[in-house]
Amino acid sequence: MTIRTITPAATASGGHVPAAPLVRPTQAHDHSQCISQALSSAEQLCAASGARLTPLRRRVLELVWASHKPLGAYDLLDQLAREGHKPAPPTIYRALDFLLEQRLIHRLASLNAYLGCSHPGDAHAGYFLICQGCGTVEEIADTRGLQQAIAQVTEAAGFLMEQGALELGGRCLPCREGRA
Ligand SMILES: [Zn+2]
Ligand SMILES: [Zn+2]
Ligand SMILES: [Zn+2]
Repeated sequence: MTIRTITPAATASGGHVPAAPLVRPTQAHDHSQCISQALSSAEQLCAASGARLTPLRRRVLELVWASHKPLGAYDLLDQLAREGHKPAPPTIYRALDFLLEQRLIHRLASLNAYLGCSHPGDAHAGYFLICQGCGTVEEIADTRGLQQAIAQVTEAAGFLMEQGALELGGRCLPCREGRA
């Protein structure tokens, strides 16, 4: 059996490197900072690409970012209805599609729910740690090792990967320690 070692050059190719350390969603932090940062990045990215961040799209993004727990389309509809809006489901889905296209949010297939992207604006597959205790989801920030491992497996199988999200279920540290 041979074990292929991962060369530094291969590891460095591709993959997103976060510009600044991101907060862990499961750590105590000022979440209003997450929300304001997400909204200002969205405004900048949309302004740069000429996409229209309408008030509804912006509000949907803000609601998705209400916490680090993914929200379903019907949760969003309920919330908007409580605020006195009554958008039809297709309107919400169009807003969500827009946010997905702009890479501002991710859809978690296993939960059929949406999560704000922690490093929006660059094309990346989403790799997620989903806590089945408290529902918090962390998007893995440094994905270089994972991308390398997945590339090895898919290339060995002669498989052309087109969609590469990874949703890992388990328990976050606070839940494991009985703090959540
Ligand atoms: Zn936060
Ligand atoms: Zn992301
Ligand atoms: Zn948890």
